[in-house]
Amino acid sequence: MRRWVLLLLLLAASIHVGCGRDRSHPPMPGVPPVPFSGEEAMAECESFVRLGPKSAGTKESRQAAEYIRDRLKAFGLKPWVDEFEDPVPGGTGVFRNVTAVLPGGSGEILILAAHYDTRVGVSETFAGANDSGSGVGLLLALAQVLSGIYPGSAPELRFLFLDGEECRREYGPADGLHGSRHAVRQLQKAGEVRKVRAMILVDMVGDRDLTVTIPRNGTSALIRQVLNAAADEGVRASFGIHPGVILDDHQPFLDVGIPAVDVIDFQYGSSPGANDYWHTDEDTMEKLDAKSLGKVGRVLLRLIQGTWGASHNQVDE
Ligand SMILES: [Zn+2]
Repeated sequence: MRRWVLLLLLLAASIHVGCGRDRSHPPMPGVPPVPFSGEEAMAECESFVRLGPKSAGTKESRQAAEYIRDRLKAFGLKPWVDEFEDPVPGGTGVFRNVTAVLPGGSGEILILAAHYDTRVGVSETFAGANDSGSGVGLLLALAQVLSGIYPGSAPELRFLFLDGEECRREYGPADGLHGSRHAVRQLQKAGEVRKVRAMILVDMVGDRDLTVTIPRNGTSALIRQVLNAAADEGVRASFGIHPGVILDDHQPFLDVGIPAVDVIDFQYGSSPGANDYWHTDEDTMEKLDAKSLGKVGRVLLRLIQGTWGASHNQVDE
């Protein structure tokens, strides 16, 4: 009898280990992982960064929006540019969000977002490779691999390329987060707020020394899902929690009760823990690595594919 108990205990332990985090564990039972390499994302990032600085409201910013739209079109999607005005310090600014949708049938919406504008006033040659090129490159590559294979029963997947994340002077009601606040207003107008299952933001995700620092202002269930997905992908060591709050494009979504998480690496610098490349001319392509984009891309794909099963209710806090 004792031996049986021991055997059962061993069996239980082995099942537990078997359910542990390893790459063979599919995102959903019966759903094979969509392959993703960071090289494509890196190539997209590089081409986008080559366009030059893209401060909101400039000619270059308009060209960047059109460029993103054209890339999405090339992947077989039907993107649109949403141009809008918003108060800025001392007047009104013109901004453009680019949206593309992979239709679903579950009645829910999953939002993947990144900002594409670059910080104003750094220099005339500011690359913004990590902030904003990496997020744009990653989303474009994800749109490409998912276009054509996205299951019609899944939540609608909405790609949002946001303008005006960067503030001109200081974050406030009329400075910064213009694109995300506008996107939330659009969701409210369309009566879609409650349909959004999750909003996942990527920002600064290409650092060759990838240290994702998910800020505490995020939905705890979603933060857990990101960390679990990272563990399942074998990249948990590159993902952690930031001790504080980071004001980013996910905040306006959180403010209206949409589950949201910011996948950001806010340790982008010359030594571990430092962030001294951020918003400087040091933010260049040489600081990035396709492997980092691959890690974050696979984690996102796992989260996306995790919604491909039966319809779920909204993420609980
Ligand atoms: Zn920035």
